[in-house]
Amino acid sequence: MKILEYNGPWDMTLGEAPKPEPGPNEVLLKSESVGICGSDVHGFTGESGRRKPGMVMGHEAVGTVVSIGKGVTSLKPGQRAVIFPTLGCGVCEYCKKGWEHICPNKRILGVNAGKWGAMADFYTCHERQAFPFTEEVNPDVGLFAEPLAVATHAVNLMQPAQGDILAIVGAGTIGLALTMVLRDRGFEKVFALDKIDDKLALAAKFGAIPINVDRETPAAAIERLTGRQRLPGVFEAVGAAATVRAAYDLCDFGGTLVLLGNLAKEFTLPLQGVTSNETTIKGSYGFNRDDFAAAIKLVSKYQKTLEVLISGTCTLEETPGVMTQLAKGERQAVKIVIHP
Ligand SMILES: [Zn+2]
Ligand SMILES: [Zn+2]
Repeated sequence: MKILEYNGPWDMTLGEAPKPEPGPNEVLLKSESVGICGSDVHGFTGESGRRKPGMVMGHEAVGTVVSIGKGVTSLKPGQRAVIFPTLGCGVCEYCKKGWEHICPNKRILGVNAGKWGAMADFYTCHERQAFPFTEEVNPDVGLFAEPLAVATHAVNLMQPAQGDILAIVGAGTIGLALTMVLRDRGFEKVFALDKIDDKLALAAKFGAIPINVDRETPAAAIERLTGRQRLPGVFEAVGAAATVRAAYDLCDFGGTLVLLGNLAKEFTLPLQGVTSNETTIKGSYGFNRDDFAAAIKLVSKYQKTLEVLISGTCTLEETPGVMTQLAKGERQAVKIVIHP
């Protein structure tokens, strides 16, 4: 079978590997749709250090079960599944609390070295990682279960009060997913901040109030529309030092800042502000199984809206070129889907 091998920064090639066999409690899937995630692009360039040479990427995935290993009871061959990429160790205190996503010994399909991902003709995963997915929804749209679960998790961590006015810094895939989750939960005023008008136009389609930070000072724009400069909840979905600071500056006294962006190694915040304003700062990473199940429901509910996010498709052969274009910023895309 064909696999897409990551050899090191800016280097990805098509290779051959024997078709894997599902081990006990594992399923073998035929790869149908694989999303190119921002984290794959930052891993491809070596910038994040989160992808290791010799691996196969691909953690946003929908596939069809081809065969099942010993002991598998939840899935049958022929069934379509959307992949929950994380597999916790199952025995540590975090896993026991349902926090598989922060298990120190977790393995993530297509992210950790040693567990090949979906950028291949076939791949295996534990049956716990394959959530049944309806045949009635476009499999490409099923990929949005991942960013919607990331957003669901972050919103659950913030626990905004009904009626709160909220802001999201960054209108990329995660920013849009946050908009969708918040609007679905009845939050009427959600501001989306970005520099790119195309992204802001999509955020507006998803129900956010767009602010182009190159043209308008966010606090001034928010004040004009709400009468206040600071908000009780702000999500940061870029991960650069400057955008974290911008998000913090919008966060009100006693407010909550949830950080999802994951790029800069360090950032600086004013200590006196954080302590004396009683700012709550929470990191949000990935999602748990409940978040994922909730996100799969959102995918079905909003499939028509989500379809506009698919900017293009490519084959495995074309993927290295597409990755390069995305990394160089030569192509602006919300989601490119690989069809192996
Ligand atoms: Zn992803
Ligand atoms: Zn664990």
